[in-house]
Amino acid sequence: MAKVTEIFGSMVFNDRKMQERLPHSTYKALKKTIKNGEPLDISVANAVANAMKDWAVEMGCTHYTHWFQPMTGVTAEKHDSFICPTSEGEIIMEFSGKELIKGEPDASSFPSGGIRATFEARGYTTWDPTSPAFIRDKTLYIPTAFCSYTGEVLDKKTPLLRSMERLSNVAVKLLHLLGKKDVTRVTTTVGPEQEYFLIDKTMYDKRPDLIYTGRTLFGAPAPKGQELEDHYFGSIKTRVSDFMNDLDEQLWKLGILAKTKHNEVAPSQHELAPVFTTSNIATDHNELTMEVMKKTAEKHGLVCLLHEKPFAGVNGSGKHNNWSISTNTGENLLDPGKHPEDNLQFQLFLAAVVKAVHEYQDLLRLTVASAGNDHRLGANEAPPAIISMYLGDDLGALVDSVINGTKFTSSGKPDMLTGVDVLPDFKKDTSDRNRTSPFAFTGNKFEFRALGSSLNIACPNYMLNTMVAEELSQFYDELKDSQDLETALKELIKRTFTEHQNIIFNGDNYSDEWVAEAERRGLCNYRSLPEAMAHYVDRKNIDLFVKNGIVSEAEIRARYEIELEHYYKQLRIEALTMVDMAEKNITPAVIAFINKLSDAASAKKSLNSSYSIYAETKLIEKLSDELEAFVKKTDELKVSIDKAADLENDNLTRAKYYRETVFGLMNELRSIGDSMESSTSAKYWPYPSYGEILFSV
Ligand code: ADP
Ligand code: MG
Repeated sequence: MAKVTEIFGSMVFNDRKMQERLPHSTYKALKKTIKNGEPLDISVANAVANAMKDWAVEMGCTHYTHWFQPMTGVTAEKHDSFICPTSEGEIIMEFSGKELIKGEPDASSFPSGGIRATFEARGYTTWDPTSPAFIRDKTLYIPTAFCSYTGEVLDKKTPLLRSMERLSNVAVKLLHLLGKKDVTRVTTTVGPEQEYFLIDKTMYDKRPDLIYTGRTLFGAPAPKGQELEDHYFGSIKTRVSDFMNDLDEQLWKLGILAKTKHNEVAPSQHELAPVFTTSNIATDHNELTMEVMKKTAEKHGLVCLLHEKPFAGVNGSGKHNNWSISTNTGENLLDPGKHPEDNLQFQLFLAAVVKAVHEYQDLLRLTVASAGNDHRLGANEAPPAIISMYLGDDLGALVDSVINGTKFTSSGKPDMLTGVDVLPDFKKDTSDRNRTSPFAFTGNKFEFRALGSSLNIACPNYMLNTMVAEELSQFYDELKDSQDLETALKELIKRTFTEHQNIIFNGDNYSDEWVAEAERRGLCNYRSLPEAMAHYVDRKNIDLFVKNGIVSEAEIRARYEIELEHYYKQLRIEALTMVDMAEKNITPAVIAFINKLSDAASAKKSLNSSYSIYAETKLIEKLSDELEAFVKKTDELKVSIDKAADLENDNLTRAKYYRETVFGLMNELRSIGDSMESSTSAKYWPYPSYGEILFSV
């Protein structure tokens, strides 16, 4: 591999290339747009487009695409070539500012949640100059936002960009009030840690459940799972390491700051963490990372599973969204500094986050809800479905001291004495880790840990940004005319901590006591997507988005419908896949095995009637009983799927029905199937076992 410093960003039309290739005035105008969000002039766009095209063509590109993030949950692209016919019957390679700024994909088949009828097919993609263009597969990719002809937002990026803008505006006003006049822009930053599974492609190809749904719908536990915890941080196998090296190289070329990689808890499970960047770029990069992971795995004869729960009985995969806010002057607003007790600015921003998480815990919960993540939240591996915050001992004590008006004494950062002379001593972090908290303070940022592995992080981040922006704007309104700012600030901070301390919980989030305690505190506990999603359209939540100019009421209602519809359709595909596997393969396999056992038993008896057929009989008995139950349950599941068609045409009703009725039957069918698997000869069982899949690489 070439030097990392040389390949890094080689596939990106980054700042250096812009500077090299653009006239200085154009470059300056573009930078203004990127930095301050100023509108872009068409002459600037023309110059940028031309420079981008020249670079892309030099790099071997023939096409460009507007790359966008519709509500499907995956990214979308439509490729156009640069070719343009001349009057001499030849072609030239061309790319105009208009083509850079605006694309017009047919939008009719992207989910709109009923905002538009399909005949109103027009949709527009608009260049997002704040996220750099890049090259993949001989195509120039231009990150864009996506909206309908009539201006409704149809993607995940637009609300994210608006929320960043909104948070910046209110935070700057507030900071000016506090005397920080040199701050002109505030940015939210994100570093998403991404978990994934890698399995052998030949195993994957034999599992229709993985192919159609991304998770195993049947599968008895392997003799070995993750109980020894020997995989976590274990040494990385050659094949995996080859994949990881290749992946790093691809990501670096795309300018993605891939930093940390290690084995995770479950067998075949791994993690990749990048260095943080602005929320917008972090989102684009995370989407790209997931795509590159999948493609790179293929090259290595592997399959990368990004489903939240590919295997029952071992940990699923999530994503940790590390989030913070910083100023253009380089200050992290969530950094407590040496003396947080005197740092009113930090306390104010902390109070805004505490109040936001308390008041909008339902939004945080529903933004991470998905059919896949329903298997994790609440189970003993991921944070629970109850949203609470962990501040750690030090900040917890600070908040208590503010509430009670007592003196704060920091425990300080004690020296960590390793007790071994050759090892250097180092300072301990102010807060220990609390792995069970869904929203944990980790030094100078919050780590939102409840995200599912396949989620587009735009959604949780625009929710977070918006709710914090809302609190900051309320704070600003309260403080802006005060005669004695310091007293007003202290009062506001004290009142906010007092009123919202119920969201803070430093204990074990997995314990039963917490579930009871959270209920006493009046915190929400929504265990599934339909339960959580129902609150999307609560008045207070609609008001939040409308007031802050993020999305309109119609757009929220559309998003709500899309989520519910997507959810029950996924469950329906899973249920249909189970029926298919049961009827076409599992039932016939068990019948064949029972026949084989019966034949063997009769053959023995005819040889000599005194031979024991104890083993055969016992197995036949067990499997026959189970098979009967299995076939009946399959029929029940089929009936339940058919019944869904008779439900009234309401997405919430359907989603609830699938969760409460269909999903329950799926679990029952699975448990009979798994029991049969454990008694059926591997030669007869039609699918690779958990052991074969999980230890295949
Ligand atoms: P762990 O949570 O397992 O300790 P790491 O420390 O490796 O994981 O990862 C933490 C993540 O948080 C990294 O992606 C890092 O870049 C990110 N991070 C650090 N500082 C900030 C910040 N100010 N804003 C957003 N993300 C940050
Ligand atoms: Mg983490």
